[in-house]
Amino acid sequence: MLSQDLQSYIDSLIQPRNGLFAEMEEYARLNGVPIMEPAGIETMLQLLRIQRPEAILEVGTAIGYSALRMALALPETKIITLERDEERFNLAVDYIKRAGMQGRIIQISGDALELEEEAAGHGPFDTIFIDAAKGQYKRFFELYSRYLKPGGMIITDNILFRGLVYNQEADSRRLRSLVKKIDEFNRWLAANQEYDTVILPIGDGIAVSKKR
Ligand code: SAH
Ligand code: MG
Repeated sequence: MLSQDLQSYIDSLIQPRNGLFAEMEEYARLNGVPIMEPAGIETMLQLLRIQRPEAILEVGTAIGYSALRMALALPETKIITLERDEERFNLAVDYIKRAGMQGRIIQISGDALELEEEAAGHGPFDTIFIDAAKGQYKRFFELYSRYLKPGGMIITDNILFRGLVYNQEADSRRLRSLVKKIDEFNRWLAANQEYDTVILPIGDGIAVSKKR
């Protein structure tokens, strides 16, 4: 997204993570789990430290990396996180236990599009973090934004998708269709009058929307 030099410089200033996070990052790298990139997660955590949310809904737990990073950065915050992949869900259970965070991170297993009632029971939320299937962003947003408090924030990850969203050089049909959907989501979100939205070219691209 940023030039390679700039990205490397910024990354070199990010402090190394402790044992468990380093282990999770290594696991993600070796197994192709798309956890948030270092500069992306640091940016999100900083926004959250400023916002100081009571409750966060995360759509897309994967192995629990971002949920745990948020829990550590925000000692008072409750995190509800949704994941449909059983293997990843179970890995997240283990990591979250090892971190002793099972009291503040509530994991729900299943397809986020079918978990509205269960998830909403833990709401309303100050923050919603959307980081699941990229082609469904609008549906996640529309479904769960109903449970966002007034003035709340929605953070959406991967909205520039490896730069393909503005370069349009995706070479497979599947990827072109995905990129088109993300682009449509970005335009819809930017024009959404209920939110003020800014697009940050950090990590894989992050949209920060604040409910008016
Ligand atoms: N937020 C994580 C990374 C999430 S990767 C982190 O930064 O550490 C995206 C995850 O969303 C994947 O594990 C995928 O299985 C999950 N996912 C995709 N679509 C989903 C859906 N409809 N419901 C629940 N989880 C979904
Ligand atoms: Mg992501």
